[in-house]
Amino acid sequence: MADRPVIVWFRQDLRLSDNPALAAAVATGRPVLPLFILDDETPGRWAWGGASRWWLHHSLAALGADLAKRGAPLTLRRGVASDVLRDVIRESAAGAVFWNRCYEPFAVARDTALKADLGVDVQSFGTLLHEPARLATKAGTPFKVFTPFWTTLRNTAAPPPPLRAPSKIEGARLSGDALDDWALLPTKPDWAGGLCAAWTPGEAGAKARLLGFLDDDLGRYRQERDQPGKPFSSRLSPHLHWGEISARQVWHATLDHARQAGDNNLEADAWAFLREIGWREFCAHLLLHWPDLPEQPWRKNFEDFPWREGKAEFAAWSRGETGYPIVDAGMRELWATGTMHNRVRMVVASFLVKHLLLPWQDGEAWFWDTLVDADLASNAGNWQWVAGSGADASPYFRIFNPVLQGEKFDAAGIYVRRWVPEIAGLPDKFLHHPWDAPDDVLAAAGVTLGGNYPAPMVDHAMARQRALAAYAVVK
Ligand code: FAD
Repeated sequence: MADRPVIVWFRQDLRLSDNPALAAAVATGRPVLPLFILDDETPGRWAWGGASRWWLHHSLAALGADLAKRGAPLTLRRGVASDVLRDVIRESAAGAVFWNRCYEPFAVARDTALKADLGVDVQSFGTLLHEPARLATKAGTPFKVFTPFWTTLRNTAAPPPPLRAPSKIEGARLSGDALDDWALLPTKPDWAGGLCAAWTPGEAGAKARLLGFLDDDLGRYRQERDQPGKPFSSRLSPHLHWGEISARQVWHATLDHARQAGDNNLEADAWAFLREIGWREFCAHLLLHWPDLPEQPWRKNFEDFPWREGKAEFAAWSRGETGYPIVDAGMRELWATGTMHNRVRMVVASFLVKHLLLPWQDGEAWFWDTLVDADLASNAGNWQWVAGSGADASPYFRIFNPVLQGEKFDAAGIYVRRWVPEIAGLPDKFLHHPWDAPDDVLAAAGVTLGGNYPAPMVDHAMARQRALAAYAVVK
C-alpha cells in the first residue's frame, strides 16, 4: 500500500506551481502518476470548441515537458473520464486520486459520484481565491449581486500563499496516447496562425504575461483598460481559465508588486484589477448555485422574451460584416486571435441581443467555439449580464450605441483600423459611422459602402426602439 501510486488528475490546472493536488501527492512520498483525460462525452454540448482545443494542445505539450523534466511523465488518455480513471487505477494499482476542483455542473456531478464509489482514497482541493460554495450572504443564501459578493470576498482572510512547484517528482509510468494523435490542432483550413502569433500557452507563458503586465501596464489599468487599441489589460484570461496560473498567484503577486512600490495609486490600480478577478469568482459562484446558467435565463421572466430568428444576420455578425466598424473589428479580432477586448465583447454582445434581437445563447455558443479563454461560468454569466436576464445584469434599457462606443473608446481609431483595414483610410471623424461620410471622402479613402465594406445591416434608432418594445414584454 505504501508505494501504491497517487494519481494526480490534471483538468483545468495545467501548472506545477501552486497546484495543491500535485503538492499533496508529492508530500505523500509515494510515486506520482500525472494524468490528463480528454473527455468529449461527459460535457455534452460544452465539449471544448476549436480555439480551446488549439490552446489545450500547446498547454499539454508544455505541462508534459515540465513534468518530464522533474521525473514524472504525463499520461494522456481519451474517453469518458470516469471510465478511464477506473481503468488507470486498475492498470497502475494506484491507491489514491487527487484533483483540483472544477465547477461546471457536469464536472461537479461526475466528481461527486466518483468520490462516492471509486474505492480508493480521493482528495480534492480548491484553487479559486475562496471556495464559491462557502461564500454566502448574512442570511446564508448565495449572492445575487456582485458588489456585496466582492466586499465579502475582499474582507475574507487573504487566500493562502501560493505553493512552490516541486523540484523533483518520483514518477510512476503508464502507457498512454500521443498528444499529436488527438488532432487538437486545426489542419484544413489551418486557421490558427493568428493564435500562434498572439499567445504562448503554458505555465512559463502565463508567468511571463503576469510579470509583463505588472511591470508595464498595471499603473495604467484603472484609467485605460477600456481602450481596445491599447493593450493595458492583463490578457491573462486563457492562462487563468486553463489553470496555467492560479488566481491566488495573481492575487499575491499583484498586491506584493503594488505594496513594494509604496505607491497608493498603484495599489488602487491593483485593487481595480483584482476586482475583475472577483467577477471571475462571482461567475463561478453563480454557476455553482444555478447550474442551468449556460442554457436558461437566470431571470425566469426572460423565458417569454420574443427573440427573432435570423441565420443570415447571425452569419454577418459572426463574420464581422455588420457595417458597424467597432462590432466588425471585435468579431474579426476574435476570429483571428481567439480573444476580444472586454469592452468590445460587451458591445458586440449587446449588438447581437439588442440590435438584432437574436438569442444570447447563440452568441454564447459562437464565443464558446472561438475564444481561447472560453469558460462556462464567465461566458454564460457575461452573456446573461449583457442580455439583461442575468444576476446583477445590465438594465434592459441600456442599449449600447456602437458609434458612440467606438468614438469614446477607440477615438483615434487604432483598433478599428487594425481589424477593418478596408476603411482605414477614412478620417477619424467618419471612421465609426462611414455611412455619414460624403461621397468624395469615401472615394478618397477607397471605401464603397455595400461594395468593399457593408452598409449598416440595421438602423440604430429603429433597432433601439424595437429592442425597447421587446424588452417591455418581460419588464
Ligand atoms: P483583465 O481586465 O486583465 O482582467 C483580469 C482577469 O479577470 C481576466 O483575465 C479574467 O479572468 C477576469 N475577468 C475580467 N473581466 C471579467 C468578467 N467580466 N467576467 C469574468 N471574469 C472577468 N472571460 C473569460 O475568461 N472567459 C469567457 O468565456 C468570457 N466570455 C465573455 C463573454 C462576454 C459576452 C463578455 C462581455 C465577457 C466575457 N468574459 C469572459 C469576460 C472578459 O471579457 C474577459 O475575461 C477579459 O476580456 C479578459 O481579458 P484580460 O485577461 O485582459 O482581462
